[in-house]
Amino acid sequence: MKLCIVIPAYNEEAVLKHTHQELSKVLTRLVAQGKVSPNSFLCFVDDGSKDRTWEILCSLGKDSVGIESKQCSIATKALKLSSNCGHQNALLAGLEYVADKCDCAISIDCDLQDDISVFDEFVAKAKAGAEVILGVRKSRQKDSLFKKHTAIGFYRLMEIMGVKITYNHADYRLLSNRAIQALLRFSEVNLFLRGIVPLLGFKTAIVEYDRLERFAGESKYPLTKMLSFAWNGITSFSVVPLRLVSVLGIVFFVLSIALGCYALFVKLFTDGVVYGWASTIIPLCFFSGIQLLSLGIIGEYVGKIYAESKRRPRYFIEEVV
Ligand code: UDP
Ligand code: MG
Repeated sequence: MKLCIVIPAYNEEAVLKHTHQELSKVLTRLVAQGKVSPNSFLCFVDDGSKDRTWEILCSLGKDSVGIESKQCSIATKALKLSSNCGHQNALLAGLEYVADKCDCAISIDCDLQDDISVFDEFVAKAKAGAEVILGVRKSRQKDSLFKKHTAIGFYRLMEIMGVKITYNHADYRLLSNRAIQALLRFSEVNLFLRGIVPLLGFKTAIVEYDRLERFAGESKYPLTKMLSFAWNGITSFSVVPLRLVSVLGIVFFVLSIALGCYALFVKLFTDGVVYGWASTIIPLCFFSGIQLLSLGIIGEYVGKIYAESKRRPRYFIEEVV
């Protein structure tokens, strides 16, 4: 079984050498144990980094890290995207590149927060016939309180919105060649791989692991990026927000009829009341608010349709070494 490990990297100069060393070691061991074929390889994708990431990738195999890799003769490939296209696109670029070059691929973040000691389990399950194997975190103890709660909120929201995703699974997974080919047939521009993978079908398995802390460098997912990722996930996979707008519309329609009946009642059976400006201004503001909100949500979807209809290429590979 020819295995490839796909690693997207954006400004990862602080961790790159160590990551390459560790992954080479694991792959060497798997080759030595006869679990994967000797021509298995690593594939880094430089997602338009602004630091020395590409330089380091090109130098792998020349310096001290190279000695290690020569010993184990694990081939390392590196792709350079022409600009920063985002984690999901970088990952897809890597998968597309290796699609016809391996039997299965494991995707993993460059900071090795995902425990690489479970590679054996991934390989064993792939050999047993699973084609989509999801790495699932056992717990979120190592996360900051903020990250933990926002993550839980995110999964709850996705559940309410009817999006099928696996709890505590990010982008640490093994895909068979067939599953990668299937994934590549999804041509959407707003990529949310976690949402697409369950749509692939195929025999699916789960591997549990403990997520570690990033050993160097900083997270490339600040709050703004995380929020936009979650928002993209919801609006790319769920029409529930649109339905909520319709439900809200019905509720207010019924309410306005009830208010009309009440006004008629006051007019017919009481002395008549002159309403103050509050009863004019407040509903006016209220309904304008609702309308703007609805338009905003519809606009979000229209924006998506716009982006999809342009069928823009998702990335360009500038160089391969
Ligand atoms: N990444 C990328 N492009 C980006 C942002 C991140 O390729 O625009 C990569 C990054 O190098 C890492 C992975 O995506 O390999 C996950 O990022 P990070 O570890 O910073 O996210 P966190 O673990 O903090 O959620
Ligand atoms: Mg990380």
